[in-house]
Amino acid sequence: MEHSMNMEPQAQEAANQDFMLQLQKTFAQLPHDIPIYMFLNRGEDNIFAQTNRQIVRAFRELTDKITFREHYMDHELARKWNVSHSPTLVIAPERVNIRWLGAPLGEEGKTFLETLLFVGMGKSHVSDQSEKVLARIDSQRNVKVFVSATCPYCPQEAVNAVKAAIEKPDLVSVEIIDIQCAPDLANQYSAHSVPQAFANDILIGQGAQTEEVFMASLEKMEAQTVFIPESDAELVENDIVIIGGGPAGIAAGIYAVRSGLNAAVLEKEALGGQVATTPIVENYPGFTQVGGKTLVDIMVSHALQYVKIFPGEEVVEIEPGTPIKVKTSRRLFETRAVLLATGAKHRYLGAKGEKLFGGRGVSYCSTCDGPLFKGKKVIMVGGGNSAVTEALHLRNMGIDVTLVHRRDKLRAQEVLAKQLPQNNVPILWNTEVKEIRGDLRVEEVELFNNKTNETQVMPIDGVFIAIGYEPANDLAKKLGVELDEEGFIKHDEKHRTSIPGIYSAGDVEGGYKQIVTASGHGSSAALTIFEDLIDPYWLKKERAAGTN
Ligand code: NAP
Repeated sequence: MEHSMNMEPQAQEAANQDFMLQLQKTFAQLPHDIPIYMFLNRGEDNIFAQTNRQIVRAFRELTDKITFREHYMDHELARKWNVSHSPTLVIAPERVNIRWLGAPLGEEGKTFLETLLFVGMGKSHVSDQSEKVLARIDSQRNVKVFVSATCPYCPQEAVNAVKAAIEKPDLVSVEIIDIQCAPDLANQYSAHSVPQAFANDILIGQGAQTEEVFMASLEKMEAQTVFIPESDAELVENDIVIIGGGPAGIAAGIYAVRSGLNAAVLEKEALGGQVATTPIVENYPGFTQVGGKTLVDIMVSHALQYVKIFPGEEVVEIEPGTPIKVKTSRRLFETRAVLLATGAKHRYLGAKGEKLFGGRGVSYCSTCDGPLFKGKKVIMVGGGNSAVTEALHLRNMGIDVTLVHRRDKLRAQEVLAKQLPQNNVPILWNTEVKEIRGDLRVEEVELFNNKTNETQVMPIDGVFIAIGYEPANDLAKKLGVELDEEGFIKHDEKHRTSIPGIYSAGDVEGGYKQIVTASGHGSSAALTIFEDLIDPYWLKKERAAGTN
């Protein structure tokens, strides 16, 4: 329900009305009513309770299928349904076991809408592969998914859980827990990064999982990393398969389809990649200042006018040839070209305790996890644009943040660096994090000054890390594409890699790693692919080399 900022106000208004009408029609066709109950403590009419009323009221204006009742926590229904947190939203409790602790704010609005639609349809919409996995579950699974309103990864994980609860109503219950509304629970589970999913109090997922990986983790009661389809998957034929839904992949999708190619964009996590978690972008032409997630929503809604996007779908294997075969967790794509726009993944610090406290005070996403640290003390490690942008973001949220940088000069652009003293963000120069310590969660860091050789121990609630990115080259490696010594994909000036039919674009190629350069390279790569398919470049090259 994001609005497109580059639209004229009237066009935007018309688009909103269209969307609302569409939604009204969809609700009207739902076979089931959707009763919603809110439980809250007497006298505790907080922002979450008020938001719940507003959200539900907005939906009730679209449909009379939704009913809403409010009760205090001492009501017999609260006892009957074991409601113990205020406020809690309970959805269609006679048919499914799905509830919200807090309110579906921000990004969670999407999860809430999907939940209402799926519950109203009485269908889980799980993939065939997920259905097979869920069919094997034969005992109770009480799922808790910790989320925050500003986490773009969270809806994917929360919707996975909701789908499981709808598919297996007798065995799967789901609580979606806003860490800001229920910090006590987040502390109890040491869930200090979101999303995190627990089943019967066992951690089964940290970060957004694809639907199939989530279901497999739920079945096995242990976090799984990859899902290999169990039988022949649906076959899809394409001219170009674009792997990665960041700026490079999205731009490539638009250009490919506009050139006349049949294209698909596959993204296993959050669309937009790193941009989705960038608090503010100030250097993308046309926008003096725009939230990263807002920019992503604008890009995605633009791309959806042209290209088919498959979110939450992970590529498990690519087989070069004619056609090239791209196997995902759900489908088999046969395609003439593949664009690897897989981006980059955050770099680890390598400090002692970093892995141990991952999700328990160590975080790589200030946008997602910041809300839990309001009024607390954290450090932000790094000296580049990301660390400075994110430190400023945390400061604006009311967090006591200190920047810790290993050198005596920042790498970040001056325009950003200047804002640190203006916003009272202290900097510890020439300082390295040696160890992160605590009991159940982060409690202190050991810092080493590499100029004075002094060590200090700082009591701390959280350690945010933004020290750059490594290329996300797992698929490229598996495929055997040539990489440079830093792991970036080697390519010619037209984004062709060492393997016929395989191209690259964006951060996985290295270079400047800006949103505008990634978009530019994505569009160039798509245009090259169009030219090469017509020409046909690879066949001619092979003939010239005498290999065909
Ligand atoms: P970056 O520019 O590569 O900076 C990484 C920072 O982390 C550097 O200051 C580096 O220190 C430090 N570092 C690296 N490894 C470390 C380690 N093991 N221990 C301690 N410190 C370490 O990364 P980034 O800030 O994530 O930015 C990535 C790219 O995205 C850049 O091209 C950046 O311009 C772009 N970006 C742009 C914006 C914007 O324009 N608004 C916002 C975010 C990101 P040294 O300085 O000592 O090497």
